[in-house]
Amino acid sequence: MTANPLLTDWTTPFELPPFSEIEPSHFEEAFEVSMAEARAEIDAIADQAAPATFENTVVALETSGKALSKVARTFFNLSGAHTNEALQKIERDLAPKLAKHSSDTLLNAKLYNRIASLWDEKDSLGLNPEDAKVLERYYKMFQRAGAGLEADDKARMAELSQKLATLGTSFSQNVLKDESEYQLVLETEEDRAGLPDFLIAAAAEAAKERGLDGKHVITLSRSSIEPFLQFSTNRRLREEAFKAWSARGEKGGDTDNRAIIKDTLELRAERARLLGFDSFAAFKLDDTMAKTPENVRDLLTKVWTPAVARANEEAEKLSEMAQSLGENHEIEAWDWRFYSEKVRKAEHDLDEAELKPYLQLDKIIEAAFDTATRLFGVTFRELKDMPVYHPDVRAFEVLNPDGSHKGLFLGDYFARPSKRSGAWMSAFRSQHKLNGGETPIIVNVMNFSKGASGEATLLTFDDARTLFHEFGHGLHGLLSNVTYPMISGTSVARDFVELPSQLYEHWLSEPEVLSRFAVHYKTGEPMPKALLDKLLAAANFNQGFATVEYTACALLDLELHLLDDPSSFDPVAFEKAELDKIGMPKAITMRHRIPHFQHVFSGDGYSSGYYSYMWSEVMDADAFGAFKEAGDIFDQDTADKLLTNIYSAGGRPDPEDAYVAFRGRAPKIDALLEGRGLAAA
Ligand SMILES: [Zn+2]
Repeated sequence: MTANPLLTDWTTPFELPPFSEIEPSHFEEAFEVSMAEARAEIDAIADQAAPATFENTVVALETSGKALSKVARTFFNLSGAHTNEALQKIERDLAPKLAKHSSDTLLNAKLYNRIASLWDEKDSLGLNPEDAKVLERYYKMFQRAGAGLEADDKARMAELSQKLATLGTSFSQNVLKDESEYQLVLETEEDRAGLPDFLIAAAAEAAKERGLDGKHVITLSRSSIEPFLQFSTNRRLREEAFKAWSARGEKGGDTDNRAIIKDTLELRAERARLLGFDSFAAFKLDDTMAKTPENVRDLLTKVWTPAVARANEEAEKLSEMAQSLGENHEIEAWDWRFYSEKVRKAEHDLDEAELKPYLQLDKIIEAAFDTATRLFGVTFRELKDMPVYHPDVRAFEVLNPDGSHKGLFLGDYFARPSKRSGAWMSAFRSQHKLNGGETPIIVNVMNFSKGASGEATLLTFDDARTLFHEFGHGLHGLLSNVTYPMISGTSVARDFVELPSQLYEHWLSEPEVLSRFAVHYKTGEPMPKALLDKLLAAANFNQGFATVEYTACALLDLELHLLDDPSSFDPVAFEKAELDKIGMPKAITMRHRIPHFQHVFSGDGYSSGYYSYMWSEVMDADAFGAFKEAGDIFDQDTADKLLTNIYSAGGRPDPEDAYVAFRGRAPKIDALLEGRGLAAA
């Protein structure tokens, strides 16, 4: 039998996983072997006779399970960005096994006693602040997993974790299936009416990828369906496509997520009760900046009220626009983007199709890199022929100001059927300094529609913003400068983690950046000043809609996890009742309806945590003000403070302290409301 490439030493450049040699079947053995190895290492730490020390317990845990971590990171990056049926099957089998592995560690009484004894003596151990923080993370992690409970309850906690892991995996696989199975083939001229060139080209490319050469296909990927809804003059097709998009996860049949949601909520509520919390939301929020459901609701309500008022004004304008065109129907959800585009054209003389030729993917990548160079001194060098996992993936070496190696950045930009929807940052390897240390390998995954072959890929302004957002997360991973893996890079409180990403978006909207990098894909001419001005003037256009479609999700995510008894829960009825209660404008739907709300149900990640974007926005809007006040968006002093306290600090400082150390004071909400154009006049 040949050696399993996942279990050998990796001799590839930068020790990337040896993708070309990995077969799905290798993962089964690799997980089995590396999990057993990790188990043995952890048991040895738990069972040692010597009394607990920081070194023989916490540091030992931080360095254990290396092989498992490499195998798991490789697997989960592939299962998100480039999956197939074999990987999906392994993922389903694996989810409960990994959950059990984790429970076996976190519910190990001997191990917990060692951690708890260190925690009791923490003040006399002579720990530096970073050591102390890591000990605190361990203690909380064990506590929150139920390590302090009685035996029966611990057994039930383990069972709950495994069941929840299985449910989360099925949830995302169902959404992916509903997405990849749908395609709207535009057969006739009438089907394609109103669509700009870039969308026709992208639809041809999507058709080719699906084996429909010569045809045009709209998919449920955001960068395909949204422009279709924006431009298609064929109202019947807009309705059809919108309904398919909106129905992901509730189509009946074997991809329907409604039962999964009910079961998930029940098990989460039970877990929270076992741990002594009133609700799953209270449990989740206990370990965040927000702390309590009340604090979250308070922030969201401050934003919701002016946002609904604004959205209702916007809806009024859309109706007027439709009537002025002789179209006397009501504005429905599949009409909003279409008429909104027309109103934007009328009010700001700005249309997406005019903008798009200036927003080339390659140039926006360059802009994101250049911004990082000017702020933090790091530079980027593209490496060709790297052994990556898909030919579309690009690799860049990240260099320190002195030219030494900092890390590796992978950019995986295009939509394809094997990729989960959305956009995200992830790590193949995290930075740390233990045992000689490791440099990070960070990936950004997006779902842009690829330009026709040989042509530049053109982005919408939203796409460009997404790229900056994910690159902000990427920098949080790449610039990390900590000792311990536990607190590396983005391993921070959920409602703090969107600060580096959302803050980074601000640079994209600056004339200083756009005037250099927004250049026409054919002529190379920079975006005309007049167009740039119009773009910036229209920045808050449709903000009522955008704020409402997001905030509705955040509010419902919170309410879902405050339910006392979800045993007869019906996601669709709940959604309708809650939206009625909060006064959701009729023609707006949630950005992510509950049956396909992956942030919340694909795993625990953002459950009771979707508000985090808004929480972080209070900080990012306020934080960018520091550069504005300094009179220079690349002010070096401010950038240095930002690097030291936020982008390189990982989870070492408390988030509140990190912010104050950067800004000199706590954040204020005013900048957020002003930034969205929602401040009281
Ligand atoms: Zn983000």
